[in-house]
Amino acid sequence: MDFTLTEEQQMVRETARDFAEEQLRPTAGERDRTRTSPMEQMKALGELGFYGCTIPEEYGGNPLGAVAEALIVEELSRVDAAFGVFFSVNVNVGCLPILKYGTDAQKSKYLPRIADGSIYTAYALSEPNAGSDVAAIQSKAAKKDGKYLLNGQKVFITNAEIASVYVVMAKTDPEAGARGISAFLVERDFPGLKIGRREHKMGINSSDTCEMIFENCEVPAENLLGEEGQGMHIALDALDDSRIGIAAQATGISQGALEATVQYAAEREQFGRKIGSFGLVYDWIAEMRTRVEASRLLTWHAAWMREQGREHTAEAAMAKTFASDSCRWVTDKAVQIHGGYGYIVDFDAERFFREAKVTQIYEGTNEILRMVIARKTLPPETFARKK
Ligand SMILES: Cc1cc2nc3c(=O)[nH]c(=O)nc-3n(C[C@H](O)[C@H](O)[C@H](O)COP(=O)(O)OP(=O)(O)OC[C@H]3O[C@@H](n4cnc5c(N)ncnc54)[C@H](O)[C@@H]3O)c2cc1C
Repeated sequence: MDFTLTEEQQMVRETARDFAEEQLRPTAGERDRTRTSPMEQMKALGELGFYGCTIPEEYGGNPLGAVAEALIVEELSRVDAAFGVFFSVNVNVGCLPILKYGTDAQKSKYLPRIADGSIYTAYALSEPNAGSDVAAIQSKAAKKDGKYLLNGQKVFITNAEIASVYVVMAKTDPEAGARGISAFLVERDFPGLKIGRREHKMGINSSDTCEMIFENCEVPAENLLGEEGQGMHIALDALDDSRIGIAAQATGISQGALEATVQYAAEREQFGRKIGSFGLVYDWIAEMRTRVEASRLLTWHAAWMREQGREHTAEAAMAKTFASDSCRWVTDKAVQIHGGYGYIVDFDAERFFREAKVTQIYEGTNEILRMVIARKTLPPETFARKK
């Protein structure tokens, strides 16, 4: 077994780290306070070619593999988790469904522009009454005169304000439950689409999270993604791939919090000693580092499975739940070791603490993902109900 990154992966990691230090660190705190989308920084990232990391060369991409992609998300999130989720959504849930299920025409139309950063993507599944219970979505798409008319409301959509193309799930056959869901590629300027309120959040405030409203939104029939009724499969398959990105995001936040804490504990003195020399503090630091390393290894393993084309549903779910739960623990200890300063916005520990929480919630709550892991672990008959 060899844990050494390839030369290309090391280069990608260093490039992403330099970008995060130079382009994100100077403004991350201020953008979070002012809820400002990082438009300039998003454009600057395009020059590195990273938006094409999941797209084949024939569509203008620069495929780097899932491990390298996780390295990018970790490095971005180590400095600015809002930017990390923008990137992860853009290259994963907003893009992979087109690559995996799109027609040649759809791929040729959208993928080159995603790869060169001229458009951004989003993924719209959640609704006011359907979060974990995906099959309960109420948005409907009815076919009429060569187009679909979409009606409904989506909530909590990352990148909604900045995206030009959205993967949207709606029911084409409302009586058929989960089998009646279809996926569509909706463009920002299709008539009948409105981007609603931008949510005020606990953290990742420079990432936009908005409502989307569809009122007789006109979607050409050729923008159906996959087949009618395949939407649930497309939606869940995308999340299997993408939640490795959330595991990487959580690992990055934890790594950032660990580094800030190590620096603080090595400098701050109380009782005439560095606080890092007190047993209670170094015990926590040892545990923080262990959890960060374990999160990273689970993330790399899930990414490697994906890269090999192997089934990775359980691995992605384990990486995401472990890394996000660890991230909550690590960022809590980071604040505690900073004492009162950890509660002050001038210190990154305060922002990391707020950023951590959402990693336990989105792309499948950790409770739902534990169900997924358990179902992949226990024999199927365990779940059979007696009549
Ligand atoms: C910042 C942010 C960005 C987001 N971005 C996107 C996006 O880009 N696209 C998108 O489609 N969605 C997005 N979401 C939505 C996110 O995926 C949902 O919030 C999440 O899936 C949970 O759904 P819910 O909020 O409706 O909670 P609910 O499903 O109502 O769950 C509430 C609680 O009940 C628990 N629960 C529910 N069912 C069960 C069960 N069977 N067993 C045990 N516990 C259960 C949950 O774990 C949770 O603790 C985003 C959310 C946030 C906060």
